[in-house]
Amino acid sequence: MKNYINEADEVLMQAYSRFPIVFDYGKGVNLYDTDGKEYLDFAAGIAVFAFGYGNEEYNSALKDQIDKIIHTSNLFYNVPAIEAAKKIVKATGLSRVFFTNSGTEAIEGAIKLARKYYYEKNGTNDSQIIAMNDSFHGRSIGALSVTGQPKYQEAFKPLIGGVVFAQYNDLDSVKALVNEKTSAIILETLQGEGGIHPATDEFIKGVRKICDDNDIVLILDEIQCGMGRTGKMFAYEHYGIKPDIVTVAKALGCGVPVGAFVANEKVSAAMKPGDHGTTYGGNPFACAAVNRVFEMFEKHDILDNVCKVSAYLEEKLNELVDEYDFIVERRGKGFMQGLQFNKPVIDTIKKCHENGLIVISAGANLMRFVPPLIITKEDVDKMIEILKKSL
Ligand SMILES: *Cc1c(COP(=O)(O)O)cnc(C)c1O
Repeated sequence: MKNYINEADEVLMQAYSRFPIVFDYGKGVNLYDTDGKEYLDFAAGIAVFAFGYGNEEYNSALKDQIDKIIHTSNLFYNVPAIEAAKKIVKATGLSRVFFTNSGTEAIEGAIKLARKYYYEKNGTNDSQIIAMNDSFHGRSIGALSVTGQPKYQEAFKPLIGGVVFAQYNDLDSVKALVNEKTSAIILETLQGEGGIHPATDEFIKGVRKICDDNDIVLILDEIQCGMGRTGKMFAYEHYGIKPDIVTVAKALGCGVPVGAFVANEKVSAAMKPGDHGTTYGGNPFACAAVNRVFEMFEKHDILDNVCKVSAYLEEKLNELVDEYDFIVERRGKGFMQGLQFNKPVIDTIKKCHENGLIVISAGANLMRFVPPLIITKEDVDKMIEILKKSL
């Protein structure tokens, strides 16, 4: 691995501080590095690989599509995209889909759609967006502009204008920012990179009401918490509400780069031919992956596994909170869990890697658990054993 890492350091831009592991292949919930060492995976490529690695049922859908056609452009129709859009419409309870190649592009599209809706309604382009502190929506300039983490923004200003920030789970702080120029409120249903903070019932329902009362577009970013991770297909289902736009990516293609923004009929209607576009977005290859992903969710009752095994995972993580005085609390829903330390977690994470467990952080003091959705109680037991050894 050392040789590969030395080569990488010569040619890759130094935008990441990577862990010194070179992965070679995966099988189920295990990963293998180029030196042949095995790791139990509780990161899933950052909440992406829902079904684990080397899954023949998933892989065969990609292989079959490669031999038919991979790409056509959006100047024409293709069957996998139509089928995938139908499945996404059904799963979200919304009306229309725009396919992107990543999460950040889904956010860009959602912002553009909300601005266009405002423009059609008011005939002016002076709209504002309310976003949340400690949020994360991606690294392109628009998405970065609604990401409430100054450390990511500072060097890249000027960002897009008209963005103001409220405090997550503080409804009054949102109300205080609403005015006649507010076009959209954007938030993660469960904050991910900002430290695994679930929204309270009162907050999500309150924001929905503010949007209803003022004809403001509610954008829920479910790029990380959507696609079954919290035990429902979309986390907003826990609250009995729907957004006007939802953004999806990460586990949507389970490894094939694909995202989407999905809107209800009222808001979608603002999008007209020529308003937005992408060369790759929704190509047959990516959409073949999306189709197989939805089929496998149903066939293998993935949500049921998430609910059952995550209850056990929570129980086991709670025991660690009791056992170690430097672990302050557990937060999260389903298979999106965090352990809050009162000190940096980086050394523990490195120890876990040494001991054959892949876990990641979300902020300096939070250990994040976003395993493949197919893990069993035995996998949880094994994870806890390695984690305790590392702690
Ligand atoms: C990962 C993530 C994004 C950005 O997605 P990319 O595919 O990395 O561009 C946006 N929002 C949330 C909530 C995310 O977790």
